Amino acid sequence: MSEREQLYIYNSLSGKKELFEPIHQNFVGLYVCGPTVYNYVHLGNCRTFISFDLVFRYLKHLGYKVRYVRNITDAGHLENDAEEGEDKISKKARLEQLEPMEVVQHYTIDFHKVLEQFNNLPPNIEPTATGHIIEQIEMIQQIMQKGLAYEVNGSVYFDVPKYNASADYGELSGRKIEELMAGSRELDGQSEKKSPLDFALWKNAKPEHIMKWPSPWGMGFPGWHLECSAMSTKYLGEQFDIHGGGMDLKFPHHECEIAQGHAATGVKPVKYWMHANMLTLNGKKMSKSTGNTLLPAELFSGENSVLEKPYDPIIVRFFIMQAHYRSTLDFSSDALSAAEKGFHRLMQAVAMLPELPVANDTTFDVNGLIKRFYSAMNDDFNSPILIAHLFEAVKYLNDIKDGKLFITQADLTLLSKEIKAFVFDVLGLQLPEKQTSSNEAEIEGMMDLILNLRQKARENKDWSTSDEIRDKLAELGITLKDSKDGAKWTKN
Ligand code: AMP
Ligand code: ZN
Repeated sequence: MSEREQLYIYNSLSGKKELFEPIHQNFVGLYVCGPTVYNYVHLGNCRTFISFDLVFRYLKHLGYKVRYVRNITDAGHLENDAEEGEDKISKKARLEQLEPMEVVQHYTIDFHKVLEQFNNLPPNIEPTATGHIIEQIEMIQQIMQKGLAYEVNGSVYFDVPKYNASADYGELSGRKIEELMAGSRELDGQSEKKSPLDFALWKNAKPEHIMKWPSPWGMGFPGWHLECSAMSTKYLGEQFDIHGGGMDLKFPHHECEIAQGHAATGVKPVKYWMHANMLTLNGKKMSKSTGNTLLPAELFSGENSVLEKPYDPIIVRFFIMQAHYRSTLDFSSDALSAAEKGFHRLMQAVAMLPELPVANDTTFDVNGLIKRFYSAMNDDFNSPILIAHLFEAVKYLNDIKDGKLFITQADLTLLSKEIKAFVFDVLGLQLPEKQTSSNEAEIEGMMDLILNLRQKARENKDWSTSDEIRDKLAELGITLKDSKDGAKWTKN
C-alpha cells in the first residue's frame, strides 16, 4: 500500500518528524510503559494509553504486523519516583493490610476493565516486573561486565559520568550533564553512590522489605527503569521500532532506559521515541500525587464535582481523539458536551450510509477525500485533522441525502468502507453503551405495532390471526395477557 510509505512520526529523540521505516519490513515492535498498579488509573493515565491505542490501531490498519508490549509495574517503583524510599505497592499493601500481590491483582483487573470500556485493544504481551527478575539480573550483569555499573553494600548503581564519557546521557531530554550535576543535591557523604546522577539498577532490601528476591548481590529488588529495558529487550529485541509513554517519563525514566540498553548491548535500543502530552484538569496536570484527578468510574457514574452529567466512555474517547496526542488537553464540562454533540452527528452520518441514494455520476472528489484521511494520520497520527475530514464527509453525505450532491454505487461502497475503517478500526469508536436502551425503545415501538395489528384483527373477529400472533410471540418467549385496557406483554 502506498499510503504506508508516507507515515511520518515525530521522534522525541531528534525533535523532528521522521519518515517511519521499521527495522524489519512489515513488522513493528511497539513498547509502552504501563501503569504502576498501586492505585486506580486516572483519566490522565487513560489518555496516554488511548493515544497509543490509536498508534497501534493505525499501524495495524496500514497492514503492519505489530507486536505491542505494555508492561505492568508491580515492583521496584519507589515513592515519588525517587531513588530511596518505600515501594509504592508495598506501601499500599502495608496500609491496607494486604499481600502486595493482592494490591497488584485488584488494580490490574480495574485497569483492564477501564481500558476495555474505552474500547482499547489489549497489547500482545503484558509482562510484569516480578515475572522478569532473572532477565533483569542478567541485564545488570551485562552492564557490569562493560564496567558501567558498580556494586556497593548489596546495591548496584549505573555509573552515569562513566557512561557519559563515551555516550550522551541527556540526549532524549535535552539535559546537559553539567547542569544536572549543578542542580543535584551534593552527596552528603552518607550516600553509597559515586555521583548523585547515578541511578539504582538493583537495591539491597532491608529486612522489613516485603518484596525481595535473591541475586548475586544478596536479597534485593530491581530498579524501576531497569524493568522496562529488560522486558522490551526480551520481547522486541536489542533494537526495536517505537517506544512510547507520557511526556513526564522522558526524564529520568526513558533517559535511563536508553543508557541501560546502550550500555548492555552496545546499541541504542529505540528508533522512534514517542511522548504523549498531559491531560490537565483546571489547567493543572492530572496527577495522583497532587490529588488533582478524575477517575473513569466517577466520570461514567456522574459522581464528581467537575461535570454536570455522566458521560459514556466512548464519548470521552472521542473527546481525547479530538486533540493531537502531542498537545495538552484540558478536561471540562463544556468541552465534553461539545464532543458528545459532534460524536452523535458523526455516528448518525455513518448509520445513514447504507440508505443513501445512488446516481450515475459522482459530483465530488471521493478519492481526494479518502486521501485526506490518510494524509492526516500519516502526519504523526493527527487525529483532530482526520476528524475534521470525517466531518467534511458528513457534510457531503447529508448533501447526497438532500439531493444536492450525487454519488455512484461504486464510489459509495468505497467511501463507506473507508469511513467505517477510520471511525471504527482506527479511531476505535463504537456506538455508546447506552445504545442498548435505545434498542429497548425500538423493541417497545415494534411491540406496540404488533399489538395494534392484533387488536385490529380481533375487532374484525379474525381470531386465527390474533391467536397466531400470540403463539408466535410465545415461541419467542413473549407472553401476552389480554385485559380490558388491551393486551400487555412480558418477556420471560
Ligand atoms: P504511572 O502509573 O504513574 O507510571 O503512569 C502511567 C502512564 O500515565 C505514564 O505513561 C504517564 O506518563 C502517564 N500519565 C500520568 N499522568 C498523566 C496525565 N495527566 N496526562 C497524560 N498521561 C499521564
Ligand atoms: Zn517504562
